[in-house]
Amino acid sequence: MAQQTILIVEDERSLVDILTYNLEKEGFEVISATDGQQGLQRARSRMPDLILLDLMLPVMEGLEVCRQLRADPSTQQLPILMLTAKTEEIDEVVGFRMGADDYVAKPFKVKPLIQRIKSLLRRSQPEARTDGDKVVVHGLEMDRWRHRARLNGEELTLTRTEFSLLWALARQPGRAYNRQELMDAALGKDALSLERTIDVHVKSLRQKLGGHAQLIETVRGVGYRFREGFPSAETAGSLVN
Ligand code: CA
Repeated sequence: MAQQTILIVEDERSLVDILTYNLEKEGFEVISATDGQQGLQRARSRMPDLILLDLMLPVMEGLEVCRQLRADPSTQQLPILMLTAKTEEIDEVVGFRMGADDYVAKPFKVKPLIQRIKSLLRRSQPEARTDGDKVVVHGLEMDRWRHRARLNGEELTLTRTEFSLLWALARQPGRAYNRQELMDAALGKDALSLERTIDVHVKSLRQKLGGHAQLIETVRGVGYRFREGFPSAETAGSLVN
């Protein structure tokens, strides 16, 4: 496999040095930027395989960098792992406003962080196309191969994690998933996130589904399921497997 490039956007030089050293040891090519503006430019010019993005940055904060990357079709799909200082920021970070794929709270240990990076890279790999790569149900159309989702013809802009989550749910309408199963499906089996993270992703997904938020139903004491039942005439669809 070709060498994968990781862009570190972080203003703490000592942290950049430690991460660079450890990631290079793991075989990654590492580039870095020490402020948000420079980070955005590097992301656009180098197209890394993953961005490790600090939240608190000079010139342009991580939140804005993330938003601009997600708003640009050429960088929309770049996996973003956010570094945050406080757990209270988690809702914002993985949620609707920022669209990061995953986060790690500071202070962190280097080894688990590298595992998270590898896990995110793994689930960002395009897979070979099969007939099982499409789902059409209740007006929702998902194409896993193209990483596209539409609801009643309207394009949904989803992060990788949101896409994986919706994909898992929509493939089997009516099936109740517990949070651990959804974490395995959306974040990878070796993810170290709290189960609460799934609630945050679901909340964000529901916001994006807008008036159709109830396609994802809460199953009390269990987790979530995609709505079963009979679609109305205008949203009629079939589950393609
Ligand atoms: Ca910082």
